[in-house]
Amino acid sequence: MNLILLGAPGAGKGTQATKIADRYGLVHISTGDIFRANIKAGTEIGLLAKSYTDKGELVPDEVTCAIVRDRLTWEDCKKGYLLDGFPRNLFQAEELDKFAHIDGVVNINIDHALLMDRLCGRRVCRECGESYHVSTLGGKTTCARCGGELYQRKDDNPETVGARLAVYNEQTAPLIDYYTRKGIILNFTGSEAPAEALFEEVKAVLDKLA
Ligand code: ADP
Ligand code: ZN
Repeated sequence: MNLILLGAPGAGKGTQATKIADRYGLVHISTGDIFRANIKAGTEIGLLAKSYTDKGELVPDEVTCAIVRDRLTWEDCKKGYLLDGFPRNLFQAEELDKFAHIDGVVNINIDHALLMDRLCGRRVCRECGESYHVSTLGGKTTCARCGGELYQRKDDNPETVGARLAVYNEQTAPLIDYYTRKGIILNFTGSEAPAEALFEEVKAVLDKLA
């Protein structure tokens, strides 16, 4: 089963992605994680990506599509994969159609009024990627799951979040129509409820697809 996970920044894609990948044995491919790893390692791709991710803009399509296209040729993708953060515009979606077959698109709709606070208060574990909201941490700086150090992503500041939301509205949201027309969209509503509740709904739908 090959899936796409769609949703605005802060909709809770990361948390659902881990749960979905675990349950269905899929490879989790996050373009945001790939860029962050490259930036950390100081690779050529990282140097290029940084100038865009810092501003909340999209890394150029040619670069992003080439990375995903290559990643999907790895042996592990034969068991199925979950694309998280890709495609992010119509060009990328059309490119993807040339080298992949997608069975379903998990779309998380969420009230955008929630997102600014969620993202600006987000703290992420350096080790396992789990995210938390600063308001629930009570000053703790380590991950409850693995003990790793929590940090704030450089692009989780009001200015960059504003840009990321604008990019989502202008470029990524039209993909909902694109995949609705293809008949493979699976719509869900995110909220302030715990991620487990949303995952129960996602599971009920994906179990029928798997
Ligand atoms: P978000 O929380 O905004 O959904 P991601 O971790 O998915 O964040 O992505 C972080 C940044 O990485 C984006 O703002 C963008 O600069 C870059 N990026 C990730 N995926 C893509 C993509 N498919 N195309 C272009 N740029 C991307
Ligand atoms: Zn952790």
